[in-house]
Amino acid sequence: MKLQKTFLFSLTTLLIVGCTAKTPYTNRSQMIFVSQKEELALGEKSYKDALSTSKVIVGTKDANRINNIGQRIAKVANRDDFNWEFNLVENDSQNAFCLPGGKVVVYTGILKVAKNDDQLATVISHEIAHALARHGAERMSASMVQQGIGVVGNIALGVTAPQYQNLFNQTYGIGSQVGVMLPYGRMQESEADEIGIYLMAQAGYDLNEALKFWDNMSQGKNETIEFFSTHPSSTTRINDIKALILKMKNNPTMLQKSSPTKENVNNLLGEKLY
Ligand SMILES: [Zn+2]
Repeated sequence: MKLQKTFLFSLTTLLIVGCTAKTPYTNRSQMIFVSQKEELALGEKSYKDALSTSKVIVGTKDANRINNIGQRIAKVANRDDFNWEFNLVENDSQNAFCLPGGKVVVYTGILKVAKNDDQLATVISHEIAHALARHGAERMSASMVQQGIGVVGNIALGVTAPQYQNLFNQTYGIGSQVGVMLPYGRMQESEADEIGIYLMAQAGYDLNEALKFWDNMSQGKNETIEFFSTHPSSTTRINDIKALILKMKNNPTMLQKSSPTKENVNNLLGEKLY
């Protein structure tokens, strides 16, 4: 009973304290109980662990491409507090991730579906968007509530305590199965698509290639498994992105409002829609 009361008290405190975050670009209210500092510390640790157990490819044409594209997108993301890094890792999975603080990992498997720089920019922008919107911290916070993990006080004791590191890895899909908290994932995926498109446009990439990239990703996939279990179906995703591009073409001020970039949006968007 006492424990239950304590938990309820913590939960209430969390709900009051935690509801203050807002996503950039989309301005959505978020329930986040993990501070940016804690998030960065957990990210650093997982990043080091992930790289130390992977084959990082350096100095090749593809590794340089990933870095150049990443830096170009990072520039428009306007996060001077991030210490950006872009790594190409030998792994057949068609996936990539961006950890808090701007640590981006792209798997070589993606190179088979991302046919050009604009398509690579699509996946990198999408992953960076997750980090900018603090989706991991949001998911982690939701997991804490769901699992009744004592957050208040405990997390202050040590952010690298195994239960938080495990939760972090689970949340970011590192070293564990995908498919935790599905509905939440899909909403965040759509948001990352939207923010990713803004980043691509601001960095001067061809948005039509985003449609082609997601179409390539869906080829030969059973949409009920793996990647797509936590992602919107390719048809929904492509239709949503197409609608967003059209909206941006019709409202050239959209980008200026969400970012300090002054470039002419119409030039960035191109003429043809895929
Ligand atoms: Zn995603």
